[in-house]
Amino acid sequence: MIRIMKCSICSDMKRENLILFGKNICNDCEEKMIKANYDDIMYQLYMDRIKHIWETKELGLKDR
Ligand SMILES: [Zn+2]
Repeated sequence: MIRIMKCSICSDMKRENLILFGKNICNDCEEKMIKANYDDIMYQLYMDRIKHIWETKELGLKDR
């Protein structure tokens, strides 16, 4: 089953790809993230977005 979800990085409606704490990260963004360098401005943007997703879901991560 293919589900369409809003990508939490680029905010486009994309196919469900990588679900991180209930948020979708589309295939395009995942690939860009993997290829980005640490000094890349886009890398910083992605990390900020992921940090934000992480922080909003932090309470649910206590039991690990
Ligand atoms: Zn995306």
